[in-house]
Amino acid sequence: MTMQKTLRTASELVAYSLSKPEFEAELANVAERYAVALTPALAALIDRADPADPIARQFIPDLAELTTTPEERADPIGDDAHSPVAGVVHRYPDRVLLKLVNVCAVYCRFCFRREMVGPGKQALTPAQLDGALAYIRANPQIWEVILTGGDPLVLSARRLGEVMRRIAAIDHVKVIRAHTRVPVAAPERITRALVRALKVSGKATYVALHANHPRELTDAVRAACARIVDAGIPMVSQSVLLRGVNDDAETLSALMRAFVEARIKPYYLHHADLAPGTSHFRTTIEEGQALMRALRGRLSGLAQPTYVLDIPGGYGKVPVGPGYVDMCAEAGAVVEDINGVRRDYP
Ligand code: SF4
Repeated sequence: MTMQKTLRTASELVAYSLSKPEFEAELANVAERYAVALTPALAALIDRADPADPIARQFIPDLAELTTTPEERADPIGDDAHSPVAGVVHRYPDRVLLKLVNVCAVYCRFCFRREMVGPGKQALTPAQLDGALAYIRANPQIWEVILTGGDPLVLSARRLGEVMRRIAAIDHVKVIRAHTRVPVAAPERITRALVRALKVSGKATYVALHANHPRELTDAVRAACARIVDAGIPMVSQSVLLRGVNDDAETLSALMRAFVEARIKPYYLHHADLAPGTSHFRTTIEEGQALMRALRGRLSGLAQPTYVLDIPGGYGKVPVGPGYVDMCAEAGAVVEDINGVRRDYP
């Protein structure tokens, strides 16, 4: 059956053979707790015969989501602790997050903001947007505004263009970055009008694409990204390290290469956050470091992401290695080469 619409319920997933009828009632419980959305573009990538399909694992609800472990928390990266006004997170001096909407084109089962996003969750009201922009205007150290959410590219070209122009009118803001999954989830939404809306005169716009598996970078997705890059908007990537999706060197290498081929600079590989009901996705940091070592040995420098952890509690994002230099050596440093052999640096 060809799918034309975004699927949002357990019964729709069953109707399109994306889940088994015997799981429908249980999955309906999960869907009640955490929003579900699967677009036709992503559903088309799912191999229904493969119970471990890495695309299905990212979007089809799983009973394991109903298990919250003691270390998990509703606000895993501490957005609330750094929110001076509605819609703004000001964690680092020179940049803010601006959360325009709390809906997304798809809902990722491992989402770090899963308690905050979903249909019916409030977008910023016009008065709240005025307040957020007033805050940015009043803080001259803010050099970069990062549009996130939710997914800012679910907005119409007209609304997005309006917000972009209002941000660009703030003198001290020099860079506007949009974080999005829309080019992967619904590449047809990346229209010329939407790309035009992202461009604002006198300011640099960047688009950060969230994708986690090389199969997500289809021809249609690459064409959507080309529309953005050809318009003079540089793109960077962000991915989450996910057990059963991309936690092997071959998949991660193919993903990073696919980004570079699409003119998207690999930027962040996030260690999975402590979001509720997501322990089945998390690797250990040691596993992540071993994968990063493997990437260092196999991939061009252009294709290397930085492996980062958002410290729970809102203490910010830090690179978590691996490290290659041992400064405790008696004479200078000892540096590890890509084969793991330790070399003296006198
Ligand atoms: S697109 Fe981003 S904010 Fe939306 S569900 Fe996925 S991870 Fe969460």
